[in-house]
Amino acid sequence: MTAVPHDTSRSQELMARARQRFPGGVNSPVRAFGGVGGEPFVVARGDGPYIWDVDGNRYVDFVLSWGPLVLGHAPPAVLAALAETAARGTSFGIPCALELDLAEVIAARMPHLEMVRFVSSGTEAAMSAVRVARAATGRDHILKFEGCYHGHADSFLVKAGSGVATLGLPNSPGVPAALAEKTLTVAFNDLDAVRTIARTTPLAAICVEPIIGNSGFIPPAPGFLAGLRAVCDETGAMLLFDEVMTGFRIAFGGAVEYSGGVRPDLTCLGKVIGGGLPVAAYGGSRAVMQQVAPAGRVYQAGTLSGNPLAMAGGLATLAALTRPVHDAITAQTGRLVAGLREIAARRGVPLLADHAGSMWGFFLHDGPVRSFDDAKQSDVALFRKVFHAARERGVYLAPSAFEAGFTSAAHTAPVIDDALDRLDQAFAAALA
Ligand SMILES: *Cc1c(COP(=O)(O)O)cnc(C)c1O
Repeated sequence: MTAVPHDTSRSQELMARARQRFPGGVNSPVRAFGGVGGEPFVVARGDGPYIWDVDGNRYVDFVLSWGPLVLGHAPPAVLAALAETAARGTSFGIPCALELDLAEVIAARMPHLEMVRFVSSGTEAAMSAVRVARAATGRDHILKFEGCYHGHADSFLVKAGSGVATLGLPNSPGVPAALAEKTLTVAFNDLDAVRTIARTTPLAAICVEPIIGNSGFIPPAPGFLAGLRAVCDETGAMLLFDEVMTGFRIAFGGAVEYSGGVRPDLTCLGKVIGGGLPVAAYGGSRAVMQQVAPAGRVYQAGTLSGNPLAMAGGLATLAALTRPVHDAITAQTGRLVAGLREIAARRGVPLLADHAGSMWGFFLHDGPVRSFDDAKQSDVALFRKVFHAARERGVYLAPSAFEAGFTSAAHTAPVIDDALDRLDQAFAAALA
């Protein structure tokens, strides 16, 4: 691999110290670069499509804090809204007008969210939504799909082995087996398996990422989401769309618009709706959400829920994310994906790349990828080389072969074209 000058000494020094203070040196596991090896860099700042590490290296950022930054880093409109809001106080624990504004903006774009409850993380949103589904149906079991991530609440830290379905075995020590066995898991896109389970086990909810982004970018097969809706209607399970990642990314109106009108009973949002501050939400019809305390008996609460700073960040972000802006980001994401396909074809690398809106991904694999098992066929060793070669050339891809990528309004055509040149060189280096 051709060496390019890329000093990381300050990052390495800080990470050595961080390992004394944080498990693995990080505050969320993926940041430790376990998926690609090597030492993570420590970030100093961001601006538009770029981030700079503490050694002064600049990167085109295709991770964007794992999705929230749909306008890019430090967008002036969001910074101004935050400064103005912060000057009046950062938290009250009392109703504020900003939370109502954000709920109304969300409902205007996602009319099925007649009511929401704001929380502070996607984990909380998914955990709480499942509590509502369990309460509403009087059932305990839930169904999820292998490779879908719904945060780290106990009920979701379950992975099935291969095969149609197995009773859930906890994926992590510390999750009680008695709870994990209430979580059933099947392969994404396997509607027959879903039907079989839902007809034999009364399910509270079928939980799905409408497009998987947490094991690479895996779209649903045509009819899959509509099929889940039909199974839920037939069996009385609630359909839960976890749109923490896909919301305001895959289509202007989210998964309902993307799927041509499949309506879930419960939806989780996060990431984009906070514009880089800690916010998430769960919601649905008024009838469903009236079960949440204090309107109903399903308890859920949060000291910082509806925090004014976070609400202001989300509002300023969604105000800027108009349909034309969404369409422009989508077009640039298409340009990126087309460029990646061209590079791979010219260099003889098997590559499957796709996008929906501003969420994208690629597998170094030529077969179809319909499930996590398919995704695992991709060439992870080559991905690692591409990742590091790209990083040395100023492009930051997600540090795992099994994560989606993101673009922002700041990723204009010149930024994408420059990134593609660098990625082309990175592929050349990785293949050398
Ligand atoms: C990121 C994510 C979560 C978890 O959100 P946190 O804010 O990290 O807790 C849940 N579901 C999906 C689909 C996600 O992408």
